[in-house]
Amino acid sequence: MTQRADGDDGAEPVLTSVGTSGWAGEPAVRTDRASREAVATDWSGHRPAGLPDGVVRARSTEDVVAVLRAASATRTPVVTRGAGTGLAGGASATTGEVVLDVSGMDRVLDLRPDDQVAVVQPGVLVADLDAAAAVHGLMYAPDPASAAIASVGGSIATNAGGLRCARYGATREAVLGLQVVLADGRVLRTGRATTKGVAGYDLTALLVGSEGTLGVVVEATVRLRPRPRRQATTTAFFPDVASAARASTAITRAGVEPAVLELVDAATLEAVDAARGTDLRAGGAAMLLVQTDGDGAEVAARAVLAAVEPWATSSETTTDAERSAELMTARREALPSLQRLGQAVIEDVVVPRSRLADAVTGVEEISRATGVRIAVFAHAGDGNLHPVLVVPEGEDVLSGAPWDAACRVFALAQRLGGTLTGEHGVGVLKRAWLRAELGDVAMDVSAAVKAALDPLGILNPGKAVVDG
Ligand SMILES: Cc1cc2nc3c(=O)[nH]c(=O)nc-3n(C[C@H](O)[C@H](O)[C@H](O)COP(=O)(O)OP(=O)(O)OC[C@H]3O[C@@H](n4cnc5c(N)ncnc54)[C@H](O)[C@@H]3O)c2cc1C
Repeated sequence: MTQRADGDDGAEPVLTSVGTSGWAGEPAVRTDRASREAVATDWSGHRPAGLPDGVVRARSTEDVVAVLRAASATRTPVVTRGAGTGLAGGASATTGEVVLDVSGMDRVLDLRPDDQVAVVQPGVLVADLDAAAAVHGLMYAPDPASAAIASVGGSIATNAGGLRCARYGATREAVLGLQVVLADGRVLRTGRATTKGVAGYDLTALLVGSEGTLGVVVEATVRLRPRPRRQATTTAFFPDVASAARASTAITRAGVEPAVLELVDAATLEAVDAARGTDLRAGGAAMLLVQTDGDGAEVAARAVLAAVEPWATSSETTTDAERSAELMTARREALPSLQRLGQAVIEDVVVPRSRLADAVTGVEEISRATGVRIAVFAHAGDGNLHPVLVVPEGEDVLSGAPWDAACRVFALAQRLGGTLTGEHGVGVLKRAWLRAELGDVAMDVSAAVKAALDPLGILNPGKAVVDG
């Protein structure tokens, strides 16, 4: 290292602990301003008060061990970073902290089709893992809309959800075992490579969703599933979003288990149309996008059509792969499309599926009461709403009317028996609401778990399971 960073004295040994393995000849340690700015935050819009002291780009488990040993010795806070697509400020870092970038650990180490298992490094992109599985007729089921840009390690650390969650569950359902470097540099192995097994506490489940606060994931053994041979994609349009929400509940009540059950409101349809040149908004003021899969895909699609019929103004099913892919892409582009309209702050609340209509109506009321423009799309099959606050560029979203609107959305979800985050995590943005949801005992137990695994509190301090 040639250049001394501003900030905490402990940073220097951490930054010099990995000296050899850069990427494509680049140094593994960067302390220049541009490199520090590039890793200071994620896609949440959260702006930390300062810049981190530097960034270490790990290429191996040994690199991670060296960094954490040095960090423990000097009590230097370390923020692990995957692809930086997080939406809760979890990967943001400030002065006195060092960023540990593991995105270069990006190899699929093993893929065993007969066991339906893959072993991967954390920096593999989610979509790349799914593509590697597809070669063998398999799939990696978790599919956040960010699959093409998010890392497997980051999606494990946030227990990412996705469109296929409705049937296949969130990331936790797909993780069988982990290799994790603890704060003191020890390597912890959890879980197993079999689909069953109950020996010991379920440390894998504990680490999934721990937002980089308990250890650094350096390897994951994940479950693959047969790639469905048949798929049917149904679109249904509605005169208003509450009708679409009711129709979604009717699909669940009909006993259909779609792989994908997404709700998109008028504002989002308009944004997608403007960004992609589609004409979805012409269909109605809200849309349900439903994908059924497996050998009974078309039978299930007919049940979907029957279930939505009382509310829908139009509906149709396609089995054409290209048309299905177009529709799914339109949905995946919802957030980037809204981001073209201004600063788009995505919230992530969940309500019991039967309360979905109450939740969307409640969000509409919040938008009227606060004067903040709020678009809504939802993983309706999970009751997971993404109200997106669209505000002018440069407006502070953590104060004034936007923050008031966000707080009202959290309170609405909790009042309806739901939760303030379904898949994006707590990060820094939702800490103030955590104790009200978890309660004092759960907060105490969480602090005890943190203290057991990270006694010096150097792993992603101030994030996830702390009061804000
Ligand atoms: C356009 C867009 C669409 C999105 N859609 C979805 C969606 O549908 N569903 C969803 O769940 N999320 C979604 N997200 C949010 C985000 O993509 C996910 O949270 C993703 O899993 C984060 O992965 P990452 O590699 O970018 O993690 P980062 O942002 O780098 O990190 C996220 C958190 O994980 C920690 N972390 C990262 N890597 C590791 C590791 N190896 N070990 C330990 N901790 C680690 C970080 O410290 C941080 O706390 C979306 C984001 C965008 C920008």
